Amino acid sequence: MKARSELFLFTTHTRAKHSRRSTGSQGDTLSCPCLSLLDLLHAIHLKVGTQEPFHIISGYRSARTNAFLCKQNRGVVNNSLHLCGKAVDIRLPGYELSSLRRVAVNLRAGGVGYYPRSDFVHVDVGRVRNW
Ligand SMILES: [Zn+2]
Repeated sequence: MKARSELFLFTTHTRAKHSRRSTGSQGDTLSCPCLSLLDLLHAIHLKVGTQEPFHIISGYRSARTNAFLCKQNRGVVNNSLHLCGKAVDIRLPGYELSSLRRVAVNLRAGGVGYYPRSDFVHVDVGRVRNW
């Protein structure tokens, strides 16, 4: 049986794939999320020990959507790993954001960004780093 986080992400992705309106993809083709990103989410879920699904603030982004967000938001970068399905912005309702960040950083599986004002943690499967 798949972990809930995987099911949630797959459900979100599948739903996005079939509904352009909800993707914000503006007509670009979606690619499959990187499996190691799902593994990372699963690992975080296990460490946290919750049954609650992640809230996904932002997952895959098309180049056009990312360029648009880049103009709006200084936290969004041009070469974002969101563009290749290797990054996701998450929160876990009922779980401290700072604790979620600590769990992700301790896994040393990629990048971890902490955005307390926007109430999410960015995790990716790129180079190990944090900000
Ligand atoms: Zn992000």
